[in-house]
Amino acid sequence: MIEGREIMCMAVTEPTGGSDPTSIKTRAVREGTGYIINGSKCFITNGAIADTCVFVAKTGDSSKEFSIFIVEKGTQGFTAGVREKHTGFRSVGITELFFEDCRVPSENLIGKEGDGLKAVLKTISEIGRIGNAGVALGIAQAAYETALEFAKERQLYRKPIFELQAIKFMLADMDVEIEAAKWLTYHAAWLLDQGKQSRDISKEIARAKLFTAEVARKTALQAVQIQGASGTLPEFKAIRYLLDSLETIAAGGTNEIMRVIIGRNL
Ligand SMILES: Cc1cc2nc3c(=O)[nH]c(=O)nc-3n(C[C@H](O)[C@H](O)[C@H](O)COP(=O)(O)OP(=O)(O)OC[C@H]3O[C@@H](n4cnc5c(N)ncnc54)[C@H](O)[C@@H]3O)c2cc1C
Repeated sequence: MIEGREIMCMAVTEPTGGSDPTSIKTRAVREGTGYIINGSKCFITNGAIADTCVFVAKTGDSSKEFSIFIVEKGTQGFTAGVREKHTGFRSVGITELFFEDCRVPSENLIGKEGDGLKAVLKTISEIGRIGNAGVALGIAQAAYETALEFAKERQLYRKPIFELQAIKFMLADMDVEIEAAKWLTYHAAWLLDQGKQSRDISKEIARAKLFTAEVARKTALQAVQIQGASGTLPEFKAIRYLLDSLETIAAGGTNEIMRVIIGRNL
């Protein structure tokens, strides 16, 4: 708990591949008044510090028979691994999770047994993708501000490098692309606020996630470039934004998966 707030994590991804949820191996077997869970998850945001974890497990033999459960920290057989050493998002604890004969009562099943896949895809779409678009947007904006400040301060040829057309063009591109990313992200979030179902706006959500992740990476790389050799020094921040931006490519679904979703809706 942080200041009275309960922290939750959502565990879907497994070592068998996050893009294909049907490859999930974690299994929940009914026993008495509950389920016995065995399996593992990886790349789970807040996995080690979450008070509760919502996770997906296979409850049948068909490739689509999944269910969602909730488990509390400290439940016997449920443990978090060591913090994964990601080069970006260093302030976020991302961990593996393990289930070894972990028993959860039947009331920890969320929704109907076997009906989990749809609900998971909905949550990933709404929270994972729009949330990640927001994160990527923040990274892009921070990288842009850092680059702009540097360009106005750094003097070459007796004037700020901001006056060089090549530098100003990069900043102009950043300005346009961030604004476009903002509109795509806010539009997708606004559609959800209007009560649209995520399945009906999957293209709008995927557009926002894809575009912001790409804008964050491009903007952060240009920020490193604008700072010259200083760009790779951590105290100049641009490199941190670049490493953070790389994390947004896979989090919430990869750029290729976003293109698959957009393509499916054309
Ligand atoms: C910072 C961060 C936080 C995360 N937090 C969580 C979390 O809290 N909970 C959680 O469950 N997961 C989380 N993840 C995992 C994330 O959801 C997965 O990384 C993502 O789904 C991709 O899975 P993968 O990394 O296994 O790559 P894979 O699925 O193995 O993909 C490998 C490559 O194949 C490509 N590919 C896959 N399918 C297709 C296709 N059909 N067409 C074209 N190309 C394809 C991918 O785009 C990628 O380039 C997090 C990841 C990161 C980086």
